[in-house]
Amino acid sequence: MDHFALRNGVLHAEDVPLPEIAEAVGTPVYVYSRATLTRHARVFRDALSALPKVHLAFAVKSNPNLAVLRVLGREGYGADVVSEGEMDRALAAGIAASDIVFSGVGKTRRELHAACRAGIGQFNIESEEEGLELSRVAAGLGMRAPVALRVNPDVDAGTHSKISTGKADNKFGVPYHEAAGIFERLSALASLDMRGLAVHIGSQITDLAPSRAAFEKMGALMRELRGRGLSVTHMDLGGGLGVPYKSGEKLPGPAEYGAMVAEVTADWDATIMFEPGRVITGNSGVLVTEVVRVKPGAACPFVVVDAAMNDLARPALYDAWHDFVAVRPSGERMTASVVGPICESSDTFATARKIDAVAAGDLAVFRTAGAYGATMANTYNSRALVPEVMVDASRWAIVANRIEPATILAAERVPEWLE
Ligand SMILES: *Cc1c(COP(=O)(O)O)cnc(C)c1O
Repeated sequence: MDHFALRNGVLHAEDVPLPEIAEAVGTPVYVYSRATLTRHARVFRDALSALPKVHLAFAVKSNPNLAVLRVLGREGYGADVVSEGEMDRALAAGIAASDIVFSGVGKTRRELHAACRAGIGQFNIESEEEGLELSRVAAGLGMRAPVALRVNPDVDAGTHSKISTGKADNKFGVPYHEAAGIFERLSALASLDMRGLAVHIGSQITDLAPSRAAFEKMGALMRELRGRGLSVTHMDLGGGLGVPYKSGEKLPGPAEYGAMVAEVTADWDATIMFEPGRVITGNSGVLVTEVVRVKPGAACPFVVVDAAMNDLARPALYDAWHDFVAVRPSGERMTASVVGPICESSDTFATARKIDAVAAGDLAVFRTAGAYGATMANTYNSRALVPEVMVDASRWAIVANRIEPATILAAERVPEWLE
């Protein structure tokens, strides 16, 4: 459920008509609903209420906007970060360092150092080599770094291959059968507090069976470690729960996911950690765009919009579907391909799809664009970096400025030997 709905024939974000924002800020523009963010944060937390000890770390990469992080921090969420830049954002949003989990396969020495100094709550390390390096960094600072070992459970999440992370041939985590040995060796290092295991098998997961299989394998590994006399107090089950992108699509939601986790972890006696991203932010945002023109095509017309793959990359990257709806739907429908202005054929949002009839100058939105939307935006074709707006009931604010091509051009230099 979200708070983007028609009122008197005009699509609103909460109490704000989208044309008001488009008029003031221009298009394309991302619009987030604070009420939807808060709702999803609460629904996810409530779904885990059967678990005795829970830590929630919002996956910052899904939507790193400072205002979004502020809303989620106020809801009691920590942060799952994958770079120093994301860590700095989470801290700037007021999230306590101790509630931050640092994930990622390529943390640099500099990042390990910065995160140790910041007092990060947990490092999810992805190799023995990284553990050794973290140990040296922590020792140099005279501290003990809290660590979970990320394990690759060799489970196929059944999602798009480009967002699947838990198969043996993926780069993430340590091989399942080597994990206990690595954990035991790293536990002997005085500068590491080896406290748990972490797993994350992929994103946009729409079937709970692979997650259950992965979590059961993690439970078995936890028991093996405890059997060796090692302490395991934290089990990080990652993120990955999918969201419906097509209207009417039925997927397992937080409640089913929470019930499955409660069942699998019933006797774990550990703090269960989660790193949800998309399930919190996905439906909380739309990308508002204006139709530039409608151009005849061989099979059906092309609706050319002013948003493009640089603003919303998911369709080009993952063949992802985003519902496309008119801001002032007439009730008429048309079959068309929706494309952006970029000079790439992959700059296509929809192919021969039945959509609301639109004409040049009309506003429309791509729905469910709050996760992996603005965060992946770039300036390809020397386009502006897309702005972001947050709505809260009847008020709204720009939460990220449009960065104009001229600003980007101003950062470039012609060397004097070319002058
Ligand atoms: C991307 C990622 C997440 C969040 O995934 P969602 O599908 O957005 O929930 C969580 N943990 C890790 C380690 C990730 O890489």
